[in-house]
Amino acid sequence: MQKTIFALATGNQISALSVIRVSGKDTEKVLKKLTLKNTPKERLLTLRNFYFPKSNKKVIDKCLVVWMPAPRSYTGEDCMEIYSHGGDAVFKSFFSALISFPNVRYAEHGEFSKRAIINGKTDLVKAEAVNDLINALTEQQRELAIRQFNRGLSIPITEWRKEIIKCMSLVEANIDFSDESDAPEKVNITKELLILREQVKSALKNKDYYELVNKGIKVVLKGKPNAGKSSIFNSILKKQKAIVSNTPGTTRDVIEGHINFKGHAIIFYDTAGITKTEDNIEREGIRRTRKLLKEADIILNITEDENFLPKSRSKREWLILNKIDKSNKLKKNLERKALLVSAKTGEGLEEILENIHKEIIKKTKRLNDPKNIILNLRQAKELEEAQYNITKALEEKSEEIISEHLRQANRSLERIIGNIDVEEVLGNIFSNFCIGK
Ligand code: GDP
Repeated sequence: MQKTIFALATGNQISALSVIRVSGKDTEKVLKKLTLKNTPKERLLTLRNFYFPKSNKKVIDKCLVVWMPAPRSYTGEDCMEIYSHGGDAVFKSFFSALISFPNVRYAEHGEFSKRAIINGKTDLVKAEAVNDLINALTEQQRELAIRQFNRGLSIPITEWRKEIIKCMSLVEANIDFSDESDAPEKVNITKELLILREQVKSALKNKDYYELVNKGIKVVLKGKPNAGKSSIFNSILKKQKAIVSNTPGTTRDVIEGHINFKGHAIIFYDTAGITKTEDNIEREGIRRTRKLLKEADIILNITEDENFLPKSRSKREWLILNKIDKSNKLKKNLERKALLVSAKTGEGLEEILENIHKEIIKKTKRLNDPKNIILNLRQAKELEEAQYNITKALEEKSEEIISEHLRQANRSLERIIGNIDVEEVLGNIFSNFCIGK
């Protein structure tokens, strides 16, 4: 029999209140035994004393509880939420009381959401969106998550699945007839599949936005040793994260720093200066720098020498002339070639941030159009698989094989919303969820 699960749904710091969630068949029994009273009216906050089981009325806490019988609960099972007082000792007492019931155990990561999906109360896209919402640190991340939760990918997926199933049944009906002498002509589903593929393709155009918003735009600082990369990195992050020194080669590994600028996530990477070196550790640092430079959305190419400005190799590479506090021979026309900054005085750093911000706005413009569908990496991978199978179905002649490709495409779409392979697909995804979700 499936166990009843419980977890602390709120953070475990000292706080006025905590929410303890319980879900499963034994919830009502547990509720009655802990309160020594009848079940309260459903979906109504009720004040109760909670007692340690078999303790001769030793009180754990006096608090509100809400009883939500199946199926009208988050998980679709019998559920209760206890609004206990916050803090460690209170929860520990509830923990020992709850765990003493034979069929009750502590929940795994995301187990409440997993049960909600299995019971058809939500789908995987929505559950992932809720998880993103919980983890959102910036305003843009929150907006994206709530949008996905409200009218996200689940809507087109449902439509596309309907279309694929319609095509599949047409083809399969034809296969069933094919032995008969008056078998109908081959069905023509080309037009439907072309439209479908176009829609899937257009959704896939947005696949990079999710990472950009949720992880942050990647800004990599590069330049010769001593140009001032670590100093700029530290000044922007406003904390001494990277070691600043006038000994070249001090930064040997990549150092990462996150900021939230005007509601957008930015990740800065301070890198090892690219030089010829015999030092193995420094060489590894340089290898990592090269890899990051390939993945970067923006590269800040930092120099301290106004006489030898490096050439920008691409639009994403911006020239930064550092240490302008030292120079009194700065020429005005340098401003057109590079952003002039001083890590020491802070001059020009705000301008770098403003320019990065402009770039984020430009890069995420498509997100402003509510018609644009957003997908995370997992969803994009499945959708690419579906696109591949639709293309294969379009190219194939044999109806049996067309039908198989359509079946595969449908399975990919089902996996996106979590309809099939529940344990296999979900196990992996929910390991990133918090326990009480
Ligand atoms: P990196 O090797 O490129 O990371 O360079 P660092 O940030 O370690 O800086 C090298 C040296 O240049 C240090 O002594 C810093 O104090 C100095 N430095 C960095 N930025 C500035 C600046 O804007 N003005 C001045 N005057 N010195 C700077």
